[in-house]
Amino acid sequence: MPVLLVTNDDGVHAAGLAALAGAVADLGEVYVLAPEREQSACSHALTLHRPLRVERVRERWWAVNGTPSDCVNLAVLGFLPEPPVLVLSGVNHGANLGDDVTYSGTVSAAMEGTLLGVPSVAISLVDGGDFAEAARVARLVAARVLVEGLPPKTLLNVNVPPGQPRGVRVTRLGHRVYAEKIVELQDPRGRACYWIGGGEPRWEALEGSDMAAVREGYVSVTPLHLDLTNHRALVELGSWSGALTAQLRARDRRARP
Ligand code: MN
Repeated sequence: MPVLLVTNDDGVHAAGLAALAGAVADLGEVYVLAPEREQSACSHALTLHRPLRVERVRERWWAVNGTPSDCVNLAVLGFLPEPPVLVLSGVNHGANLGDDVTYSGTVSAAMEGTLLGVPSVAISLVDGGDFAEAARVARLVAARVLVEGLPPKTLLNVNVPPGQPRGVRVTRLGHRVYAEKIVELQDPRGRACYWIGGGEPRWEALEGSDMAAVREGYVSVTPLHLDLTNHRALVELGSWSGALTAQLRARDRRARP
């Protein structure tokens, strides 16, 4: 039986985690390593400055006092009896769409798996949806990935809409419109403090986007690439190296007596 790792960012006791682990139980030997408490919006943080503790919850389930990426790192690099062939992260309580994936602990766990060479899938449920439905979708996608694999450095970001999905669309990331301003308040001692990330997110109307798919009642599957290099800019900005080198040397010459 292949080893599968299931993790999340909502914590080891989240309903979405249990739904996911249960749904893929027949696909392999399922191990769960998840943060002991909620770590939403923790992004791709790794805990490097204190030891990690792993607490057994039950057979093949552990709680980690760290982030989702910590859980994947531990599991892939030696905690499990053998490395997983698939990392599944979710089912997140709430959507992870468009530009928001850069903040997401759920997606970051799948990024960590991908960086460590393990095919990885993040699954999120749009508010108001049903975990059983999302877990059923996750199982279908996981089974397919186990057979077909994924392109290099590529993970899948899956979002499941509320209600009975009308189908599945392979999508691109949407883009947020940052219309809201920061909210400035005064604390009881008269000092200014600030809230960010307030208000309902607004999205660019972008055809083929993940946002458009879930809004229309479809499951969205977005392939995300972890080569962050902008290869076109590499060519466009190529001349910068010569100019910057010249400036760097000119400064060196001036600095020397
Ligand atoms: Mn979460």
